[in-house]
Amino acid sequence: EAGEQRLCEQVLGRDPVLRRRAIAKTITLLESTRPDHRLRADALLNALLPHGGQSFRLGISGVPGVGKSTFIEALGLHLIAQGHRVAVLAVDPSSSVSGGSILGDKTRMEQLSIQEAAYIRPSPSGGTLGGVAERTREAMIVCEAAGYDVVIVETVGVGQSETAVHGMTDMFCLLQLPNAGDDLQAIKKGVMELADLVVINKADIDVNAATRARAQITSALRLFGQHGNPEHAHHLEDLWHPEVLQLSALKNTGVSEFWQTVSRYRELQQRSGRLAARRHAQDEAWMWERIDAGLKALFRSHAQVREALAPLTTEVRAGRVAASVAARRLLDLFH
Ligand code: GDP
Repeated sequence: EAGEQRLCEQVLGRDPVLRRRAIAKTITLLESTRPDHRLRADALLNALLPHGGQSFRLGISGVPGVGKSTFIEALGLHLIAQGHRVAVLAVDPSSSVSGGSILGDKTRMEQLSIQEAAYIRPSPSGGTLGGVAERTREAMIVCEAAGYDVVIVETVGVGQSETAVHGMTDMFCLLQLPNAGDDLQAIKKGVMELADLVVINKADIDVNAATRARAQITSALRLFGQHGNPEHAHHLEDLWHPEVLQLSALKNTGVSEFWQTVSRYRELQQRSGRLAARRHAQDEAWMWERIDAGLKALFRSHAQVREALAPLTTEVRAGRVAASVAARRLLDLFH
């Protein structure tokens, strides 16, 4: 009790050294699997929640090697120079498989990580994507309570992690390589549809390719039609149309234009009420996502279900019992 109170005060407090340590301790508590830690973490989270939510939440995605960490470092330094405080969190479900996180590499973002106004946390490791995403969402609230006004959530451009990050940020930004227009991988995977902003990085290598990619992606985005829910827009000019920028993270060109675009988006979304609407919808969807996951875990640990599950699965696989019938039988055992 007293320990949590102190941690909470330090996260909210003005002492930068104590604050940094308190953030790390709080996030460690949130990531712990011990039930007593979880209870303490829940209490802390609830105490911090009223102080969270003040930041702009920016999701950044792209395949390994596209230049995410180079870009985030350049952007972070640019923002800090403008007086912002920047937290960088990561969602990398593969880190639980490989043991070492792709996004948590210590050598990444060396200049940014030594800044007092920056806080960088690698992806939580272990567990399902849902679990990793949950801990990142909670860490985001802690960082916001501690006064970081821009929270960047980074994810690798593979698998479902992009949907998870899209579901916890105000703006989802996709990094592409200058040749991305040729294979249109992201378009095929349906990731492009999530993007509020597409950035073609490494434009310094091949300006022509970058310009071509920009045109191709722009027309692809147009095919997806109107972005966002028009019902929330009071005026048609309030609708955001996803844009495509080209820049060089390495040469640090186009980074301030990037932030200008983000700021324009943010203002528009705030004015039209869509920023708040998106967050409310995200929170509700998230609650249900976690309820689904929790129920499934309860279901699997239920004694009678556990007993019947294996034989019924065999029957279903052999085609002797319809899947829907088996599901109904198991659910009947559950309640
Ligand atoms: P990540 O895996 O997406 O985080 O990519 P990194 O930021 O680690 O970058 C991968 C490689 O691309 C590194 O060698 C970077 O120096 C390089 N790189 C990143 N951005 C640029 C850029 O704008 N231009 C060029 N030429 N190289 C870049």
